[in-house]
Amino acid sequence: MFDRSNELGAWDRDHLFHPATEAGAHTRGEIQTRVISGGKGVYITDKSGRTFLDAFAGLFCVNVGYGRQKIAEAIAKQAKELAYYHAFGDYGTEAPITLSKMIIDRAPAGMSRVYFGLSGSDANETNIKLAWYYNNVLGRPGKKKIISRWRGYHGSTVMTGSLTGLELYHKAFDLPRTPILHTEAPYYFRRPDTTMNGEQFAQACVDMLEDLILAEGADTIAAFIGEPIQGAGGIIPPPTGYWSKVQSLLKKYDILLIADEVVSGFGRLGRMFGSDHYDIRPDLITISKGLTSSYAPLSGVIVSDKVWQVLVKGSDELGTIGHGWTCSAHPICAAAAIANLELIDEMDLVSNAHDTGAYLRSALAEALGNHENVGEVRGDGLMAAVEFVEDRDNRIFFDASKKVGEQVAAALLERGVIGRAMPQGDILGLAPPLCLTRHEADIIVESTLKAVDAVFVR
Ligand SMILES: *Cc1c(COP(=O)(O)O)cnc(C)c1O
Repeated sequence: MFDRSNELGAWDRDHLFHPATEAGAHTRGEIQTRVISGGKGVYITDKSGRTFLDAFAGLFCVNVGYGRQKIAEAIAKQAKELAYYHAFGDYGTEAPITLSKMIIDRAPAGMSRVYFGLSGSDANETNIKLAWYYNNVLGRPGKKKIISRWRGYHGSTVMTGSLTGLELYHKAFDLPRTPILHTEAPYYFRRPDTTMNGEQFAQACVDMLEDLILAEGADTIAAFIGEPIQGAGGIIPPPTGYWSKVQSLLKKYDILLIADEVVSGFGRLGRMFGSDHYDIRPDLITISKGLTSSYAPLSGVIVSDKVWQVLVKGSDELGTIGHGWTCSAHPICAAAAIANLELIDEMDLVSNAHDTGAYLRSALAEALGNHENVGEVRGDGLMAAVEFVEDRDNRIFFDASKKVGEQVAAALLERGVIGRAMPQGDILGLAPPLCLTRHEADIIVESTLKAVDAVFVR
């Protein structure tokens, strides 16, 4: 319970409105904030001096790991030289210009420009506006709806919270709003018909998408948005053939494809971009988390040449594109990103995510794959999930009120490892920093096994 003698704890309880919080429990002191005060590599330390292996890289964002002095120094240097100047119209600063070039060099083919924001949410807001602007310039003002997927995560602003397909982010917020539509998640483990193989299920998802497009009218649909691998929705890799089928459909109906690479961008799947990993050719790409490893807030929309040409036409006809915020292309955040991208290369983190990711996932599958309460161990690159079930043979899920996923995450924390109970379903998510070693992967697997055994006492 709450300790009044702790001044910081009192201020926290009385004044800090935490994001994604249980306000009542926090206010009553039933949950104590663990104040994190340091970090190095994959480890973080709290104020009481306890150290944890952070197997979720913060919120799957600290790709390079904690305590990288190179990034800290780049931030300090930029802050001392020039902390801020804007990038509206004919002004700019050096760091975001250099960074835009570095991003396009690493991006999938066909990409042309980068618009910088500060969060994944605001970058997806930009995507929605660009999809609308694009169709207005092309003289098809009716083409405005955006299709997202259930269990997708795209942010929590009004529009991006609508794109997000998770109950938690809609409940009592009057979301989702028009013109956002949702279609089936490509979630093979939860396929309604268990006799289907992956390819058949992928086809079923795409058929449902086509039904939705036809029911609404293709001339009303502007864009489809999806994470290459679903992240917050449960770490759900696409079934075989899914993306190629989706892309043919979007092409057929002239619908833009937005790849939300906020998690998959910059190495998480063992490729620089998830789009290249799954052979996706997006028109717009959202980036954020791994761009700076969250050492500073920065996001971006990578605009394809195809979309850029239309934006150029639009501004020639309509004048200035009225979109931008005070801190767009912020030099300090861009300096952090440059140092971060250099570190990803210098430390060879993309190949490490590939190799150590495969090692972690196979060790996890070996340790837990046959456990009677484990329905599935899945993932890709350095992302893994363990999904818990009450009855493995009949695929019966636990009652949500039992909070089994949260219990496993808590038992794991007691053993010094941070995993994440994903918000919908009993799913333990793992997405450690990309600098993870095999030894550290072993610690994660051993601790997860112990945590699972502690929760499911036989
Ligand atoms: C985290 C996340 C976002 C939102 O980013 P914020 O910086 O939290 O606004 C968007 N898309 C995906 C795929 C994410 O994981």
